[in-house]
Amino acid sequence: MTANLLDFDLDGLAAFCERLGEKRFRATQLFRWIHQKGAADFDEMSDLAKSLREKLKTSAEVTAIPLLAQHISSDGTIKWLFDVGGGNAIETVFIPDDDRGTLCISSQAGCAVACRFCSTGHQGFSRNLTVAEIISQLWFAEHFLRKHLGQSDRVISNVVMMGMGEPLQNYAALVPALRVMLDDHAYGLSRRRVTVSTSGVVPMIDRLGRDCPVALAVSLHASNDALRDELVPLNRKYPLADLLQACKRYLEVAPRDFVTFEYCMLNGVNDTIAHADELVELVRSYGAHKAWCKFNLIPFNPFPASGLTRSSVAAVASFAKILSDSGIVTTIRKTRGDDIDAACGQLAGDIKDRTNVRTRLSKHRLITINQDKRPTRVGKEDTVNDC
Ligand code: SF4
Repeated sequence: MTANLLDFDLDGLAAFCERLGEKRFRATQLFRWIHQKGAADFDEMSDLAKSLREKLKTSAEVTAIPLLAQHISSDGTIKWLFDVGGGNAIETVFIPDDDRGTLCISSQAGCAVACRFCSTGHQGFSRNLTVAEIISQLWFAEHFLRKHLGQSDRVISNVVMMGMGEPLQNYAALVPALRVMLDDHAYGLSRRRVTVSTSGVVPMIDRLGRDCPVALAVSLHASNDALRDELVPLNRKYPLADLLQACKRYLEVAPRDFVTFEYCMLNGVNDTIAHADELVELVRSYGAHKAWCKFNLIPFNPFPASGLTRSSVAAVASFAKILSDSGIVTTIRKTRGDDIDAACGQLAGDIKDRTNVRTRLSKHRLITINQDKRPTRVGKEDTVNDC
């Protein structure tokens, strides 16, 4: 069977090379060609012995998931839609900023957590992505962007596992993928610049802290258990007390000295002064030092099936002021990629009906990709991340 080398972290690739009778340094060379240079053709890998290249041609491949579509926003945000088979598609979003380029990556096709405000949650769970399918997103985006922007240096400086899916429910693939992102022979991202966002899978937060501690974000969205049970059903299994204690434990090994709480602002549901006051109390009860966490308030992107609406600008500002005045660092997320459906909770917008996704997307009015995977047309459409 042919092995897809995007499925391996460096140790996995070394084990594969060993089975071919090759030494570990060959795996390191191969790893660099694939991830640092974006090579998929073994003949390009000029410093590998010809005999090894011949062996690789019969036993291995470097195959990224097929690209279905690409949207480029007027603000530079780029959304890619990838085909992961069986009528399933996943999304990846690049968000450029002055001092960074962030890639938002999906970990599952669909999601089983079923958060009420999340369009991915409404489409249900299909399957976990493999390591290759997770790393493909970074591999493709990094090397596409270098060509697209005409630069040889690294473009993607930050990765957030905040796309479709709950990353900690795909732990077996998540950790090797994180290791590839962090490896100096691959993307060399610092642990502080790779963030895993979870809806609160408590035992796996502890495991991540032991196996591969990177920055942690938690989708909180509620100030008490009764409300969170409704918005994030996983709370019924892992209530706030267990979740916040896990966050505090994680901080003992985390590369950053805070956890980011994501809070989607829902009109009349979780956005009142009373909710803000309750959050301040909640944070205080888990640490006198309010700097142990930061809040990121996210404007909700409505979709019909949710039955929810976006909080007013004034309500978000008042909420943020209460948190800030109590000493909690609070930001309001800028909406990016509004014109291409790339905002939070919108990743499933085009693919809620997973039947015959390729046919439906081929009819999409804005998405056209030519052979070299560059957009042939870019236009106006609607709106990054879900988790
Ligand atoms: S917010 Fe995250 S965990 Fe919740 S349903 Fe959406 S993708 Fe799943």
